[in-house]
Amino acid sequence: MQDTVLVVGGGPAGLSAASGVTAAGKKAVLVEKEDVLGGAPILSGYGKLVPSGEWASDAIGRMVSNVENDNGVTVHKGTKVSKLDGEAGSFTATLSNGETVEAGSVVLGTGFTHFDSINKPEWGFGTYEDVITTTQAEQMITAGKVSCPSDGRVPERVAILLCVGSRDRQIGREWCSKICCTVSTNLAMEIKEISPETEVFIYYMDIRTFGLYEDKFYWKSQEEFKTKFVKARIAEVTRSNDGRLLVKGEDTLVKRPIVIPFDIVVHAIGMDPNEENPEISRVFGVGLERHGYLDRSEHYTNTNGSTRPGIYVAGAALGPETIDDSISQGRSAALRAVSDLNALVQQAS
Ligand SMILES: Cc1cc2nc3c(=O)[nH]c(=O)nc-3n(C[C@H](O)[C@H](O)[C@H](O)COP(=O)(O)OP(=O)(O)OC[C@H]3O[C@@H](n4cnc5c(N)ncnc54)[C@H](O)[C@@H]3O)c2cc1C
Ligand code: SF4
Repeated sequence: MQDTVLVVGGGPAGLSAASGVTAAGKKAVLVEKEDVLGGAPILSGYGKLVPSGEWASDAIGRMVSNVENDNGVTVHKGTKVSKLDGEAGSFTATLSNGETVEAGSVVLGTGFTHFDSINKPEWGFGTYEDVITTTQAEQMITAGKVSCPSDGRVPERVAILLCVGSRDRQIGREWCSKICCTVSTNLAMEIKEISPETEVFIYYMDIRTFGLYEDKFYWKSQEEFKTKFVKARIAEVTRSNDGRLLVKGEDTLVKRPIVIPFDIVVHAIGMDPNEENPEISRVFGVGLERHGYLDRSEHYTNTNGSTRPGIYVAGAALGPETIDDSISQGRSAALRAVSDLNALVQQAS
């Protein structure tokens, strides 16, 4: 069993961990609850990824093929771990399909859950057909068409509302979801590319296109694609008599109420903790931090450590994370899992 690492979750973090385990000379058993691998970018049909601009189906599809063609990885799809016995170096996992897996360590790449915009009813999602989420907008872009879901007309104006389900204490989401500013500025440019006549407005509290994304996404979308940025506090989204959507709020720069009509309103939804985290915490015996994400051990010397020895965590399971960083964390968790097993083998010999 000390030659095997159990990886739970087949998103970018888990795929990277499974490949990392076999690259380091051990075997991986990958358990994914859905019937397809790829995690959120595949399951939710993301379009072109930031920052690479590559289609999610190609980029993450490549990672999936690498794992599926790797003889060192055994994949269980449509499966969960229902029980984990043992300790670091000798775990036994019972799977929901009745099989058992013996593994020396475990990597959790169980990711996040998209914020459900229904929990922000005053912003119109679920009430008006033309209020959609970023994942729905990405599916439109993938289909090569920007049109109002209600009647198929090409929108004159699209509003993208940032921080929907993030940075919102009223609904218990105190975190910044880290990537949605960049995803939204990119989406604004993609809308313009497909529909040059459409005007795109981004409503924001702050813009957090961190690091190198400031130039590549924030400035470019403003200067080259003429995206309009409105610093505002939004009160509600309603419908006018002519059927268009009205975004009502306060322009916080000039401190005046503003009401602008739009044809489509996009919610830039955030990243909630995986809704199954209480179950994952119970089954694997790992702790949760105060927002409900999986908790880490000491940051600097116990890289990717969970609160339980022998169990490591990577990617958005730990908090809002980008794909690039989830992939890196998957690799580093794999290295921890393998090197700790090697140390146990050495101690025993
Ligand atoms: C709208 C939106 C757009 C985004 N676009 C980008 C982008 O362009 N670029 C970028 O860098 N980031 C983007 N992100 C962030 C990106 O989605 C995450 O960084 C990435 O999905 C994290 O990968 P992960 O493997 O940690 O988690 P996930 O992608 O959530 O994968 C977790 C996997 O674990 C599985 N799983 C969960 N629980 C269990 C369980 N109990 N047992 C077995 N399997 C389980 C899930 O089914 C899933 O397959 C976006 C986020 C949002 C909200
Ligand atoms: S990344 Fe931007 S949109 Fe997303 S929560 Fe942070 S500030 Fe809001």
